[in-house]
Amino acid sequence: MLKPQSNFRGIDISEIRKMNALAGASTINLGIGQLPNDLPEPVRNKGIEAFRSGETRYTSNQGNLDLRILIAEYHSKKSGVSFTSDQVVVTNGAEGALWNILYTYLENDDEVLIPEIAFSVYDTITKLQGANPLRYKLNSDFSMDFDNLELMITKRTKFLVINSPNNPTGALLSRADIEKLCFFANKMDFYIISDEIYSELYFDDIKPTSPIEFSSRVIVVDGISKMAAATGLRIGWTISSPEITKPMVIANQYISTCASSVSQYAAIKALDGSSCQFLKDIRANLQFKRDYAYSFLTDIPHISVEKPKGAFYIFPNISWFGFSKDVAHKILKDCDVLTIPGIAFGDRGDNHIRISYAVDFDNLKEALFRIKNVLSNWRK
Ligand code: PMP
Repeated sequence: MLKPQSNFRGIDISEIRKMNALAGASTINLGIGQLPNDLPEPVRNKGIEAFRSGETRYTSNQGNLDLRILIAEYHSKKSGVSFTSDQVVVTNGAEGALWNILYTYLENDDEVLIPEIAFSVYDTITKLQGANPLRYKLNSDFSMDFDNLELMITKRTKFLVINSPNNPTGALLSRADIEKLCFFANKMDFYIISDEIYSELYFDDIKPTSPIEFSSRVIVVDGISKMAAATGLRIGWTISSPEITKPMVIANQYISTCASSVSQYAAIKALDGSSCQFLKDIRANLQFKRDYAYSFLTDIPHISVEKPKGAFYIFPNISWFGFSKDVAHKILKDCDVLTIPGIAFGDRGDNHIRISYAVDFDNLKEALFRIKNVLSNWRK
């Protein structure tokens, strides 16, 4: 019998996908990790132009040069540090970028420190490379617990992952904490993977900080999936020092040759300033929904909730009612609203459910109202 390689043992499709598979035709789905909007018009038109003008062949393994120049400019402007196009590798989504980093750099028994509440893919890809994912602790407001972190860093620590704004908590790491983390990385000889896929979706004009401002021991993961409602185009990238980048360009050839040429061409319009208004509108719309969801959930007895500062998720603590799978399944069964059990993001997440508010506002209102009813009539 053909068996998957040994690192595959215990690996299954994610709890997010499993839960989403239970959505019926009438379900209000608050489990989705993408914006409901259509592509910004300039991106769509550029994609159509790509097909018409024959941008349908291989690009370089590193990615379309025009796009890479824009990506380098985008990160230079954001961080105040100067980057060039040869520091960028364009990949199949941010997930492709994570795969490229961990495939290129991890050896058996290397350790990767991951937040105790995190997007599951960091853990899974690390395991698939035969390395060890370890969870570092977060404080109750989801900030980093540096005392715990200091104890966890060993000679085998190769990477530490941060994701700010965070999926699923919506938390932002403070500038001071990011600076402190970079100091640790320099002193203790590890590298930071900074997943910045939600960095354009921030609220109250408080922009996320990238560790790349403070250290060259950083690989930024980013992409257009969330900033341009473009999850299906599969365009992500890494940006890092030239030495770190070079082996990943080689790896990218053997992983996928290159990201889709038409998608790369379309992505130009997500980064050249043409989609600025789209982003501004999205931010304002999400902030309004964030405010609504936060104040609604705060009023439900026995729930506690941190106010998200970015992304489009809110992560209430539902531990008074039970464990996350039981609560999410009961909500689905009793009122046809789909949420994601927090266990999908690690053991500490089991006290929470993830609610995505990137849905039509009327649906959000109705869904929260129904959740409140289920929780208010809860019998222990
Ligand atoms: N990082 C995080 C934190 C995410 O939530 C996601 C997608 N849900 C990704 C990376 C992957 O993004 P992409 O669709 O560009 O592969």
